[in-house]
Amino acid sequence: MESKLKIKKLPIFIGNKKVAYFYFDSNDKKIEKLGESFIKEYEKLYSFFSINPKKLIHLHFLYSLEEMSSYWGGVPPKSLSGMVDNDNQFILYVYSPSVIEKFSSEKKSSIIPVIIHETAHTFVSSINLRCFYWINEGICQLLESSKVRDNIIKKENWQWFLKNKALSNPKLEWLDQIKHEGYKIAYNLTKYILKKYKKEAIIDLIKIRRESSENIEEKMKKIFKSDLKAFLSDFEKNIKII
Ligand SMILES: [Zn+2]
Repeated sequence: MESKLKIKKLPIFIGNKKVAYFYFDSNDKKIEKLGESFIKEYEKLYSFFSINPKKLIHLHFLYSLEEMSSYWGGVPPKSLSGMVDNDNQFILYVYSPSVIEKFSSEKKSSIIPVIIHETAHTFVSSINLRCFYWINEGICQLLESSKVRDNIIKKENWQWFLKNKALSNPKLEWLDQIKHEGYKIAYNLTKYILKKYKKEAIIDLIKIRRESSENIEEKMKKIFKSDLKAFLSDFEKNIKII
């Protein structure tokens, strides 16, 4: 079935500037309309980051679980509705609205937030290809602006975060963090930082490379104007640990 799809390649312009290509089944009538919402949201991302992504964005709409699995490298979790290509940060995959409810737990109405989340990653990558996962996923969740996550975090997961020094540990894999409410902690942490320290702090945090050779703790201390322990205990007052 899949092989019969006739893929259309649609350029997306903002003014005279081409910013993206959409790739989709030429029979999928819903996609061209999405281009208009995409432009609006893209401009919001531009005004937040004050830069454009370094390269053109290639956004592929997918129609099968097999296809997503091939990019993910196995069957993806049900919560996954979009992803950035593992080798190229400017290639994005999202389910078409026609199948998103079938293959993921997302509603059709979240298609724009899903696209914006993945697109926000291209802006982050243009500032730093190797930033900390928590700031990357935190800011992309905040900017997608649909799902408002709660601030309830399980005690064991918060303790895991502290024990593993997840704030500043460059060796911690994101897949391990996901298992310990990584997305929710990242969301709440970034929201707290944005409110208390403003956008500049977010950008400065994105600039920190996830490498042992970096003076990570020193850089973070400077941004938070406090040592990391005190920073985390202040943040802790903003979440509910159960
Ligand atoms: Zn993400």
